[in-house]
Amino acid sequence: MPQRKPYRVGRSATGLGLFATETIEEQAEIVEYLGRRIPTRLAQEIDRRRGNKYLFEIDTRWTIDGSTRRNLARYVNHACDPNAEAVLKGDRMVYRALERIPPGAEITIDYGEEYVELYFKRGCRCAGCRE
Ligand SMILES: [Zn+2]
Repeated sequence: MPQRKPYRVGRSATGLGLFATETIEEQAEIVEYLGRRIPTRLAQEIDRRRGNKYLFEIDTRWTIDGSTRRNLARYVNHACDPNAEAVLKGDRMVYRALERIPPGAEITIDYGEEYVELYFKRGCRCAGCRE
């Protein structure tokens, strides 16, 4: 993980987003999805009761609750044709560049069908889908 953050939080078409401030090379690790680790069973319970769109399931045992403000990865928006992906590194969840991301570009990942159906009531509004 680079010492200097190659991104900043900024305004995107759908609210806030994470934007590259310098060139991020393909395959480079961008940001870690930080948060408290809770049992997946408990996470599903929380989600059912009051909803928490920052729950990131690692596996059937563990889920990261990324609702903490220090988790800047939570600002990364969904795109159907994303330029980054989430990868598991040991027990850490890291966003990695799928391609070279130029300064100023919004960093996006694909949240998956389930998330899109659940939280995008009016359909996906990513750059590709807005066209
Ligand atoms: Zn879309």
